[in-house]
Amino acid sequence: MKRVHNFSAGPATLPLSVLMKAQEELLDYRDSGASIIEMSHRSPQYTEVNEQAVTRLKKILGAGDEWHVLFLQGGASSQFMMSAHNFLNSERTANYIDTGTWSAKAIKEAKHYGSVHTSFSGKESGYTHIPSNSELTFTDESVYTHFTSNNTIFGTQFRSEPASGGAPLVCDASSDFLSRSLDLDKYGLIYAGAQKNLGPAGVTVVMIRTSFLERQRPEAIPTILNYKTHTAKLFNTPPVFAVYMVNLVLEWIIEKGGISYFEKINRQKADSLYGEIDKDDFYRGTVEKESRSLMNVTFRMDNEDLEKLFLTEAAKEDLVALKGHRSVGGIRASIYNACPTESVQALVEFMSEFRKKNG
Ligand code: PMP
Repeated sequence: MKRVHNFSAGPATLPLSVLMKAQEELLDYRDSGASIIEMSHRSPQYTEVNEQAVTRLKKILGAGDEWHVLFLQGGASSQFMMSAHNFLNSERTANYIDTGTWSAKAIKEAKHYGSVHTSFSGKESGYTHIPSNSELTFTDESVYTHFTSNNTIFGTQFRSEPASGGAPLVCDASSDFLSRSLDLDKYGLIYAGAQKNLGPAGVTVVMIRTSFLERQRPEAIPTILNYKTHTAKLFNTPPVFAVYMVNLVLEWIIEKGGISYFEKINRQKADSLYGEIDKDDFYRGTVEKESRSLMNVTFRMDNEDLEKLFLTEAAKEDLVALKGHRSVGGIRASIYNACPTESVQALVEFMSEFRKKNG
């Protein structure tokens, strides 16, 4: 069996032990004689999986009874629309912090439903900067303040929760969810596509606080798009295989030591890569140092030919999926929870050798 050093931004590498467990259980799920994806989503087996996933997620984040955990479909992109649809209308406003492509997409959707106050926009400066609280502006009337905790494309990340102007935070945490602890009291809603830090594509985790839900807009919302439909009961068929995989990843996170373990390891992995980048100016980080992401490490070299050579030579060493997002180019190493320290070490060694040969 061959396993490469996989730096994919998403769908991203998963823990080997999780994949093996899924493989082992696939044909005959715990003596049921059927696979977990061949039985009813109301079966006792799947019900247990779903409930376990909710319990484990809450345990990992220290979330209390006031939080609902939902496993929805449609990706984080659907949540751009659904969050705005549930809480905005023509009379209401929300603050949005624009720190990258995904924030901008969230803003575009919100404008279909209500007014958007842009608290900050990094667009003019090429999205290389995460604002400090003093750079943010708010409207008093805002129903929520939306931010993207980690900007997958540009390689920036909020160090901690931004100020919110007194409104609950709504967060797109797609690319750093469960990589570090959260100050949950500040949030009303958190959503994350699973395919980076959490499991396979196909499920979007949504956490919503009861008191925030009460601030839903009064106008009707289509059934499937209404959060209350999903907090009340398991409304329709969930993406059972994806939720099953997420449950295994959550089990793995707990076994490893929970959030505090990953916080430490993720910091170490990122530090070793940035350390290599900062040795001289052969590699150049693309964003301000204080704004750097611990999840997506982005950098460039002198010219595109050299970057191409870097990618080809890296692939020969089984270091794959290092190409930057097509909209920005350059190199991007995505090092989510499941990216092993050994893979990061192999990349650092390769970078050092590549510099020696081509510097
Ligand atoms: N938000 C962020 C921060 C992302 O990185 C992505 C995907 N790369 C999305 C939203 C969109 O997610 P999806 O493809 O699940 O709709």
